[in-house]
Formats: sequence, C-alpha cells, structure tokens
Amino acid sequence: MGDTTTATMPDAPSTQSPTSPTFPSTGYSKHIVLTTYPGQSGVDPVPLVWGAPDAKSRGPVIVTRGAGMLKRRNAMGAHGGSYSIYNALAIAAGDLDVNFRPDFRNSEPTFNFPWQPSWADKTKIVSMDPYGHDVVDQFREELEAGWDIRPTMAITRANMKLAEIGEAVKNGQLDVDGSIVVDSSGEVRVTKVAVEPVWYLPGVAERFGVDEGTLRRTLFEHTGGSYPELITRPDLKVFLPPIGGLTVYIFGPPERVSDENVKLALRIHDECNGSDVFQSDICTCRPYLAFGIREAIREAQNGGSGVVIYFRKEGRALGEVVKYLVYNARKRGGDTADKYFTRTENIAGVRDMRFQALMPDILHWLGIKKIDRMLSMSNMKHDAIVQSGIKILERVPIPEELIPSDSRVEIDAKINAGYFTTGKQYTMEELAAVRGRGWEKWEDVTH
Ligand SMILES: [Zn+2]
Repeated sequence: MGDTTTATMPDAPSTQSPTSPTFPSTGYSKHIVLTTYPGQSGVDPVPLVWGAPDAKSRGPVIVTRGAGMLKRRNAMGAHGGSYSIYNALAIAAGDLDVNFRPDFRNSEPTFNFPWQPSWADKTKIVSMDPYGHDVVDQFREELEAGWDIRPTMAITRANMKLAEIGEAVKNGQLDVDGSIVVDSSGEVRVTKVAVEPVWYLPGVAERFGVDEGTLRRTLFEHTGGSYPELITRPDLKVFLPPIGGLTVYIFGPPERVSDENVKLALRIHDECNGSDVFQSDICTCRPYLAFGIREAIREAQNGGSGVVIYFRKEGRALGEVVKYLVYNARKRGGDTADKYFTRTENIAGVRDMRFQALMPDILHWLGIKKIDRMLSMSNMKHDAIVQSGIKILERVPIPEELIPSDSRVEIDAKINAGYFTTGKQYTMEELAAVRGRGWEKWEDVTH
C-alpha cells in the first residue's frame, strides 16, 4: 500500500500530435490515477463528519477528481446519479469544459425547510445529504475558492395539471380554493424537492444488516469495478451511487409538513412509467398516484398538509426490461394472480428490489413524526416507516372503483402477500381464478 495505482493512456491515435501530453477535447493528462490509498502522499480528504450538528461542522461532500481536488475529495461516485454518465458524455463530446463550474446565482430554494434533529442523526438519514439543498449558502467561501461542490437537492415551486384532478374539481370532490387548487380546470400549486442519492455507507450497511466491508465489496464487484476506492479507501465513507433519486410534491404551505398539530396525508409512490405516464391498465400505479394527489390536496385544503413522494424505482427497481419480460411470461403462461410473484422471481430472482429500508430518510428530513393518512397498501413501506420511528395512524387503500379490471391480478396477489386491505383477502386457490386479459384479440389483428 501507499503507492498510487496509475496507468498511462495507450498512444494517441495518429490523427493527434504524438508529442501532445493531453487529449485535445478534454485536457486530461496522459497519466491516470486509477485509485488512491489512505496515507498516500498528498491524500488529505476534506473532513466530512456525517451526523454533525450543522452543515459547516459536517463539511461539504466533495466527489470531483478534477483541478487539484483528487487527493482532497471525501466521497466516491459522481454527481447526478445515473445522469453522471451523460455528464461524462458531454465532456467527451467537447460540449462541456472539464473545468466548468456552475453559476448558482438565483438557484436557491423557494422555501427554507427548517432544520430538524434528524439532520444531525447519522442513523436517521443515511441515503441523502441533509444539507444537500443548502450547499451554495453554507460553503460559499469554498465555492469562491474554486472547490467543485454541488447541491444534491433542489427546492422549487410549480403549477401542475392532472386530468384526474380536473375531473375531481368538475364532479365536486375537490373545491377551488384559489391558493392550492387555483382554478376550475384543476390547476394546482405545489412545492417540489428533488433529491439525489448520497449514501453514508456505514449507515446503509446497518439498515440492511450487513457489514460495511461486504456492502463495499459487493458494490465494487457489481458495478464492473467502477469505483475502486470502495475497496482502497475505507476512510472514505460517502458514496454517490449511479441510481435515480426522488421528488417530493408538497400541497399547501410547506411549513405545515413538520407541524405535528395538523393532519398529514402522504403517499410514497415508486415509479411505473408505463402506468404513471402512459396509463397502461395492467397495474394500479397511476390510479393510486392520482388518488394520492387528490387526497393530499384535500388534506391541505382542510388546513393540514399533503405530500406525495415519487421514487425513481421503475418496476420495483428491477427496471423496464425485466418488467416487460415478466409481462410476457404472465400473458403467455396464463395470467392468474396465484402465479403473479412467481413470474417475477423466475426472471429477476427476487420479487422486489426497492429496499424500502432507505425510503424513510426523506420523511425524517422533512421533520415528519406521524402520518395521519397513509395512502398506500404496501406492508413493506408501512413496516419501514414504523420501524424508523414514525407513527402511521390510518392506512387508506385504493378505492375499488379506481382499480382497472386487468390490474386485479397484481392487486389481489399483493393483498394475498400482505398488502393492507379493508376489502377481501383471497386465498391462493381463489387467486388462481383471478385472471388478467389475454392476448387473443392481439393475435387476431397481427395475423
Ligand atoms: Zn405499475
């Protein structure tokens, strides 16, 4: 140990000057530091104390390898989650200067979320940077000194319009109050918080009941060895993983979210692009999301608060390719509810990879202590929230009339597997009779 692991780029293509020590588009040196080690000459990470009482004593999260910061950075990975690859492409293509620094003027949050004790609790928040929204203000001097520090959260406000909310206004289920629902077309005002993942590895390991070394080794191996410092730098505890983040939608005044004296309606929603956006009817995702938004708005109109949190965990975090393979296996194999989970397990090896254990972090960041109306039937979400110390007072299933007929296979299988319901719970024998739409009609038109 102690030696820098380095490599030299192979000779540049003949179109480039053989004497040039750098590549014309990027300005990288030919000498590449593949990884670093603790105690190596010059390695001196900026102190980062997860769980410190305020942003300044906690320290900024620095992941850049650029401009003199390689030996001073205190975190692994890259900004932007999965978009870090597009950032690299923009630099490779010559569209983005490798030394570009953002101009953050006027980008500050539209609402100043009040500090919560959880921000200084290294067991309550392990998968996001609790100061990620306030980087520009808290680390102004460092930014002015040229350090590449970036926000991992952003807070804005917007108007939104959903067909179902317009319908709810039209049929009298929601009122136009002029401030949350602003007009009779169902236009709604919302505060939004975007969050990119920032993992404090000892805390993440603890949530999953594994040791940190195992977690680091597994992440290293199964990202094609992309992050060698997971192995060589056990002193670096923070990792920005290349995965999607989440968005918080807050209806009504955002200061009410952490107010224990008013009611809170909350939906945790995991991405399902096919239903959420394109309104496929094979599952209940979009109807439940729209119902969640409606109930969140209603709670805010009643003087409480409504929150919907959207996680980028497509297809139970298995992704759309696996999801469509499962759809095919279901439709070709006789789509009945008793085989619903087996079809997924056959292809993915597991039925779910969403790992709700990390999900409650955002609730603690918001200062939520209890949820009056939980707009979710998931036992996994419920258990993760309750185990993290937040009370759930009422669980609200999706109303029967909002369940598309082809999605009975999904919802009845989930209820059988432990999802909360106030309605009927089917036995495995009964599930065999819950059948989805076949492809017979499709074969007719495609022949
Ligand atoms: Zn869905």
